[in-house]
Amino acid sequence: MLPLIIPAFVLGSAAAAYIAKGKCKKCQSKLTLNEKCVICENEICGDCGEYTGEISYKNWVIFQGGRCCLDHIDKFEKQINLSKNKIDIADCVILYSKNYKGKIPRHTLNKEIKSDFHKNKDSAEMELKLLASDNGCTSITNVSFIKETKSSDNYKYTVWQCYGKI
Ligand SMILES: [Zn+2]
Ligand SMILES: [Zn+2]
Repeated sequence: MLPLIIPAFVLGSAAAAYIAKGKCKKCQSKLTLNEKCVICENEICGDCGEYTGEISYKNWVIFQGGRCCLDHIDKFEKQINLSKNKIDIADCVILYSKNYKGKIPRHTLNKEIKSDFHKNKDSAEMELKLLASDNGCTSITNVSFIKETKSSDNYKYTVWQCYGKI
C-alpha cells in the first residue's frame, strides 16, 4: 500500500485544480483541458507536452502525475532521479529506539524531530528518516511512535507519528 502522505519534494500536483482559459504557451492552440507543465508551470497542450502518470519509488509517491512541456523533459527526469537519490540516502539512516540501551552515536544537531501523522507506521518512520538526511544526519536516536485514533464521520482510523533526536 502506498503512503497517503507524500514527501515534500514531490513535483507538481495533479490535485491542484485551477481554471485555465488560456492557450498553449508553445503552439497557441486553445486549451480544452487545464494542464500546466510541472516544471515551468506554463499551460501546455497535449501535443506540446508529455503526460507522465504517478511514479512511486520504494513505496513512496514521488510524482503525482502531470504534464511536462517537451523543453523540460530533461529537467523533469533529473528531478525524478534526485527524488530517488534522496529516498536512497534516507533509507540508509539508522534508527535507535528510545528503549535501546547500547552505545549510540553522538547527536549532530541535538534537535528533536517528528514526522506528520501517517496511516501507515512505516511511512511515519520513512518521513523521519527523510527529515534526518535532509539535515545531514545518518542516524536518529530516541525513536518512538505515537498512535492516535482519528475519526471522520463514523469512520475511525489509526494514525502514527514518529519522534526522534538527531
Ligand atoms: Zn501546444
Ligand atoms: Zn515547461
